[in-house]
Amino acid sequence: MSAPRESVPLHTGAAAALRAATASGSTSTADTVTRALARAREVKAGRDGLNIFVSLDGEYLDEHAETATEQLADTEPGLLLGVPVAIKDNIATLHHPTTCGSRILADYVSPYAATVVGKLCDAGAVPFGKTNMDEFAMGSSTENSAYGPTRNPVAPDRVPGGSSGGSAAAVAAGIVPVALGSETGGSVRQPASFCGVVGVKPTYGRVSRFGLVAFASSLDHVGVFGARVDDAARGLRVIAGHDPLDSTSANVAVGEYHLAHARPVKGMVVGRPREYFPDSLDPAVRARCDAAFEHLRELGMQVRDVSLPHTALAIPVYYIVAPAEASSNLARFDGARYGLRVAGAGLTGMYEATRSQGFGAEVTRRIMLGTYVLSAGYYDAYYRKAQRVRTLIAADFSRVFHAGVDVLFTPTTPTPAFKLGAISDPYEMYLSDIFTVTANLAGIPAMSQPIGRVGGLPIGGQLMAAHFEEMKLFSVAYALERALGAGASS
Ligand code: GLN
Repeated sequence: MSAPRESVPLHTGAAAALRAATASGSTSTADTVTRALARAREVKAGRDGLNIFVSLDGEYLDEHAETATEQLADTEPGLLLGVPVAIKDNIATLHHPTTCGSRILADYVSPYAATVVGKLCDAGAVPFGKTNMDEFAMGSSTENSAYGPTRNPVAPDRVPGGSSGGSAAAVAAGIVPVALGSETGGSVRQPASFCGVVGVKPTYGRVSRFGLVAFASSLDHVGVFGARVDDAARGLRVIAGHDPLDSTSANVAVGEYHLAHARPVKGMVVGRPREYFPDSLDPAVRARCDAAFEHLRELGMQVRDVSLPHTALAIPVYYIVAPAEASSNLARFDGARYGLRVAGAGLTGMYEATRSQGFGAEVTRRIMLGTYVLSAGYYDAYYRKAQRVRTLIAADFSRVFHAGVDVLFTPTTPTPAFKLGAISDPYEMYLSDIFTVTANLAGIPAMSQPIGRVGGLPIGGQLMAAHFEEMKLFSVAYALERALGAGASS
């Protein structure tokens, strides 16, 4: 007779519970995958379908789940045993296509899987479908996808944020407890804030980028979404670590992030950078942050006012460096090597036809901007100057952390999720990353966690720490999540 089946919820901190239930045999990976698929179909149906997945092959997943369970029967249970993990569609997987939300890669199936996907499988997780995203991760709303926009599960007339909107929504909709996203300027933290879930971007070099389709290589990171802090901690623990296949991967010991809940936070110093709390900040967002600071004080942390004076330059610097790197990285999509090819007059005609039909408006804008700032005569005026200011932004953080600040706390986004179609001016859209791009420019770890609601919509609080201090982030995040209790989502 088979063991009684236990129905572990797929949301609210489910990764640990799913692992335990799978290891004890009280639930099976196949059951979990079936339930996750049922939930994914449920939110897809109807006029207000959330459009979370670009590809999700149920038959394949059923088979894969069985194999995962069989293979792992006799071994020590991995940290994500039996946990379905959704994957952003710019991370290479073997079975499902990797489209980057672009027409130019429609139906493109990678011949190899990303290192992070291999690590998930080794830990017993099931890679669960590919999630929708802004084309080539350029955007803040997931409206720039060639496969249509994703809707926010909390408020379906609103965007989920971006560019990893599909992954954030997959977690927020209770389909999977963990999802992978990518970050170049906030694409995990901003959608986490909008959807009321946890999102973490590690230190640059902490997680392999092998198999992550490049947008802006010096700013790109793989990040993790979790329903709760613990889900994100387990996800990051599994995918972190040195990888010889990525030349920027760091050989630095990985912490047991999921054990950070037991670390005391009393006596730690939390910095409140004044540039992240301008007079113009929405008073309701400020109030939620003030309440969080109050909890941190009650936990015995010392709150210190600090200044990061070059913060205001982060958006202009980012929108020079990121398009410059993107224009070079995206040159490889030429109709000859990958995906779409559209015939034209001669070789140049084929390039032109393929690229103008394959790329959407935002990607085209970035390529033009990037090509311009790298061109002879403008390189020094724009690109080199931006790199210099980037160094100053990084130095602001180093100075504060050297002066004894353990973590910084700020709002993740200046507002909660906006309505679909509400922002048509690209520059206004760029400003939704105003509090997140700094961590990518400096390469420091940062995360967003729910700290309450503003006008009924979730809003995130952001923690940032010095390079490779992810343990500090998680210690504080676990403690704050406990202190906020139900207040995190109300
Ligand atoms: N929204 C920012 C952009 O459009 C950041 C994107 C990202 O982090 N991938 O570039």
